[in-house]
Amino acid sequence: MGINDEMNASPEGIWQECLQLIRGRVPDQTFETWFKPIEPVGLDKEKLTVQVPSHFFYEWIENHYKELMNSVLQQVSGNGLKLAYSVVYSEDNPPGPPAPAVSAEPGFIHRQQLESYLNDRYTFDNFVEGDNNEFARAAALAIAEAPGGTSFNPLVIYGGVGLGKTHLAQAIGNKSLQDRTAKRVLYTSSEKFTLEFINSIKNNKTTEFSEHYRNVDLLMVDDVQFFQKKESTQEQFFHTFNALYQAGKQIVLTSDRAPKELSGMEERLLSRFQAGLIADIQPPDLETRIAILQHKAQEDGIEISYDIIEFLAANITSNVRDLEGALIRLLAFSSLSNTDITVDLAKRVLREIIDKNFSSSVSIEDIQRVTTEIMGVGESDLIGKGRKKEVALARQIAMYLCREMTGSSLKTIGLHFGGRDHSTVVHACKVIEDKIQKDADLQQQLNSIKHKIEISQF
Ligand code: ADP
Ligand code: MG
Repeated sequence: MGINDEMNASPEGIWQECLQLIRGRVPDQTFETWFKPIEPVGLDKEKLTVQVPSHFFYEWIENHYKELMNSVLQQVSGNGLKLAYSVVYSEDNPPGPPAPAVSAEPGFIHRQQLESYLNDRYTFDNFVEGDNNEFARAAALAIAEAPGGTSFNPLVIYGGVGLGKTHLAQAIGNKSLQDRTAKRVLYTSSEKFTLEFINSIKNNKTTEFSEHYRNVDLLMVDDVQFFQKKESTQEQFFHTFNALYQAGKQIVLTSDRAPKELSGMEERLLSRFQAGLIADIQPPDLETRIAILQHKAQEDGIEISYDIIEFLAANITSNVRDLEGALIRLLAFSSLSNTDITVDLAKRVLREIIDKNFSSSVSIEDIQRVTTEIMGVGESDLIGKGRKKEVALARQIAMYLCREMTGSSLKTIGLHFGGRDHSTVVHACKVIEDKIQKDADLQQQLNSIKHKIEISQF
């Protein structure tokens, strides 16, 4: 049933239907851990309100299952119903930052609650300092204390994934609002900026768009590498940048690579980026990884021995996001099985993380599902015969990932794609290899599909 028939709609009814759909789309364990505890508590014309046990829980859902939740809700309600969260607070679980109301449209957050688009979980207080990030952190702090008042304009923070760029950029925003060193603070990603710009053209609202971005004291733009090759967006951003810069307003940018390595970027924009201060973040060393894990465990109230922390820190070296992931997984395991966190449990969790990195647990179906989700084509198209450009590209990407991420033979992969020949798979892999050499956007898209597949293994 849809809830167009409003007489019969209840929060429980709708949520039960959502649950049924979710159950088929996530592993049982995930379902039990993250979806069972959610309680539907309210429904009006616009939104379904669900209650979650903690802020931590809310964030986990938001970070990992937002798209799933939204798509399921759309499927069930069929009428643009949005999702809002309410968090239960108790003595054990004092209120952290408030959970913002979140809508079913990606990227939209109720304005009165989060007009800066900041998440107050990201602060300097909970950013663990190490040799790897000391300089970036100090620069960020100096800016938060006097936005626009230092020679660090713009500040560009760059480094690999999961090393704390977003955290630092957001911490600047949060601190300057808290200390009232800036009044109008705006955080955005280059993707969001691009989308809004395109929409503003479509809707004849470019003036409003410009005003929105030029009317701030502190602007943070995350992941500017996505501006690569988007000429008119770069042009627009260039003007925004200049307007702010000339008015003495602060700009903070993050990037996954050094500004000079950004290809497909206008020279004049690059030289603007390089005119301020550039600070990199490196992967954390062992000591810092231990400190981060200790900090996180304490923050989440997890009892965990030093041995285990050291064990995890010694074995997970890539980035902070993976460290966090390990801890969360450990917590989920132990609470599910009602056992203490032991070294054995830690080993098991670690094994899965290592396997995940070797990708032996990824299935062809996982890859097909995530690829269709992200590329916006139907699952049946992927295995079908259609030759539409987007479909063909999605199909080739999926094949390429199957080759890269699963141990399956070419023949097996071909079979999973509507019984195609192994030479078709070889061809697809070649095509994609060539394309990603030349097309940074495609490379990026591929990475986000991969990332999502990896997360879905959790
Ligand atoms: P990036 O934007 O560089 O990909 P994030 O800022 O999203 O990375 O960081 C990934 C996760 O790791 C976040 O949850 C963040 O809070 C955490 N994190 C990163 N660096 C630190 C640090 N030095 N101390 C504490 N947490 C960190
Ligand atoms: Mg980031």
